[in-house]
Amino acid sequence: MTDGVAAVTRWLRACADEFDARREELDALDRLLGDGDHGTNMCRGFIAAQTLDLSELVTGAEALRQVGMALVSNVGGASGPLFGTYLLRIGAVWPLHPTTRAVAMATRQGLDGVMARGKASVGDKTMVDAIAPAADSLDLSARDGEDLAVALEKAADAAEAGALATVGMAARRGRAHLLAGESVGVIDPGAVSVGIIARIAAQSLS
Ligand code: ADP
Ligand code: MG
Ligand code: MG
Repeated sequence: MTDGVAAVTRWLRACADEFDARREELDALDRLLGDGDHGTNMCRGFIAAQTLDLSELVTGAEALRQVGMALVSNVGGASGPLFGTYLLRIGAVWPLHPTTRAVAMATRQGLDGVMARGKASVGDKTMVDAIAPAADSLDLSARDGEDLAVALEKAADAAEAGALATVGMAARRGRAHLLAGESVGVIDPGAVSVGIIARIAAQSLS
């Protein structure tokens, strides 16, 4: 297996394990804001992706695209197409040898894809509120010439902080928008999931 595919495979396995372990927690958050299935959805998607045989693939980019397609086709609801689009767009530009600048550009592409698909802006209390600060952090790291390992740790910190900040927001997209102001006080589960994915990327990609 090539290094690129091995890195994506490591990341994928760890994500599947983490979503399995945190399924109840994410479902419970989604019960407060939506229909209570976010953890189950992420789990189903990543477990389906984990059963893919990626070993014959050559590049990490191809592997990321396969994972993205598995999420789109195995997860219903809002999150399948949105997380799928995120990974498909990242996979469309993922480089053979990831650098901070290339990962920053790929993450920006992923953010643009999610925003185009879901029509959410920053501040609408969605996964966008975790991806956007991670993308901004990666841009700063690229500008400052930081190593990828440092940049990915900072991006995961930014994604987790962005997720936490959704507590104070009123939802304007997704099922939670039906609650409007009553959604204030609860963290957005999709944003938590972005933090999970970013933290595991920091642990497995560099
Ligand atoms: P569903 O709402 O279809 O049951 P999930 O519960 O799996 O799907 O996912 C809900 C998450 O999806 C939300 O917490 C939010 O982060 C994200 N989400 C929902 N709608 C949008 C949207 N239009 N744009 C961006 N993210 C969204
Ligand atoms: Mg839901
Ligand atoms: Mg649902």
